[in-house]
Formats: sequence, C-alpha cells, structure tokens
Amino acid sequence: MGQTYTTTALILKRRDHNEHDRLFCLYTKDFGKIDVLAKGTKKISSKLNSYLEPFYLIKVMIAKGKVFDKLANCNLIEGYQNLRHDLLGFALINYLAEITDGLIIGQTQNNNKFDLLLKTLDILEQEIGKKEKEKLLLLANLYSLKLLSLLGYQPEIKRCLICHKGILLTKNIFDFSHGGVICEDCKKVCLIEDYVLVSDQVIKLLQLSQEKDLDFFINLGIDQDTIKQFNQVVYKLLLVNLEKPIKSFDFIKKL
Ligand SMILES: [Zn+2]
Repeated sequence: MGQTYTTTALILKRRDHNEHDRLFCLYTKDFGKIDVLAKGTKKISSKLNSYLEPFYLIKVMIAKGKVFDKLANCNLIEGYQNLRHDLLGFALINYLAEITDGLIIGQTQNNNKFDLLLKTLDILEQEIGKKEKEKLLLLANLYSLKLLSLLGYQPEIKRCLICHKGILLTKNIFDFSHGGVICEDCKKVCLIEDYVLVSDQVIKLLQLSQEKDLDFFINLGIDQDTIKQFNQVVYKLLLVNLEKPIKSFDFIKKL
C-alpha cells in the first residue's frame, strides 16, 4: 500500500465515476478542497456508504494515487441530523455547501475557514426549528460574509469607497460592482446602477459582521426589515463573487 494521510473533512458533493465508483469532493481541514475516489461506493453493499452523505463531517484516511487519491477508510464524526431532517435545514446545508464550493478554489491550508464552517453548522444545528427562516438565513449569510473576508474579498463598509470619509450620513448605497458602501454625496457620480439603498441598521449589521463572532448574532434582536435587506445585500454580493446563480438560495426562497 502506498502513502496515506488522514484529515477531517466535510463532504461537499459527489458524482458517479465508472460503473461502481464515485468521486467525492471533500472540503478538508488540512488541505482545502480535494477530490477523492471511493471504490465500489455505487454498490449498495459498500461499507463506506453509510458515512458518505453530503455534508457529513468525517474523519478520513486517504491513499495517494496516480490520478485520484483514494478513500481508504472513514468514520462519521457528525451527521447534523437536525438540519438533515428539516426541509429548510437541508436547504441551508446545501446553501452553505454551494457557497463554500463556489468560493474556495482548490487546495488551501488556512484552518480558520474550515473552523468557521463547522461553527456555522453547529449553530444552525442547534437553532433549526427554533428561529424563523430569515434569521437562520442571516446566520448562514454571516458565514458567507466572513468567508469572503478570509478570502480577501471583504466589502468596504466603514468608509465611502469614493471619498473615503467615514460612513455617517443616511441614504448610503451598497455598490456591488465596487464591493462596498458609497455615501450620499458620492452616489451622484456612480454611473453604473448596480447598487441598492442600505439603511443605517444594515450598515451597522455589516460592520458588526466584521467585528463579532457568530455567537453574538444568535439571540441579537434585529428587526425583520433589516434582516431581509441584509440577506439581499449578501446574496447579491455572493452572486457578484460567484459569477453564477445560487440554486439552493432560490429553493430557500420558495420554502
Ligand atoms: Zn463619499
């Protein structure tokens, strides 16, 4: 047997490969995103199958291969059963997977991003069924914003992107083509109309998202309009960064 390595991983997606095998896209704690081949997992009798559902958190042993690394063994750490058995919960899992898969390109060695995702999943696993949809989506979107920041795509929220003055006045806009807030005075020189008006509360929430941990937001009292507008801003920001539609978001909206 060749060289092997172990790591902790979340299963992002899977696809069929050959007659009996599947390829799994894993987001790993130590190596970022990798594809591994799981031999025989299209067969119902495969022992590995019970551990290989999308978004299971697993401990894996992987054998180095010439074309694909191969899954040698795995153990389930967490199945997020509360989320999995709730329609909205399952949609949120898929939303997180789609964003993570879309924003993280290839291998990276920054554990912060992986830990942030686990933290988000733990919170949603606890809160599903206790909070309403837009609030749960807000928690998922706080993850998206924090991930964007860790990847170096942090939106400018504290200062106007054009005049660089601190954001004070009302009637600011969030400009998606520039990736941040523009003050009322500078709004007039914005030629591309790819922006939305953002309330002071949304700006405050965007600022807090850069300063506070996710726990801070779980029971924070925020009015419905602010939550909805915040979710819209983050969704559009994600679209700009992903450069493709987010299928799972459309599904969540319909629930
Ligand atoms: Zn300005």
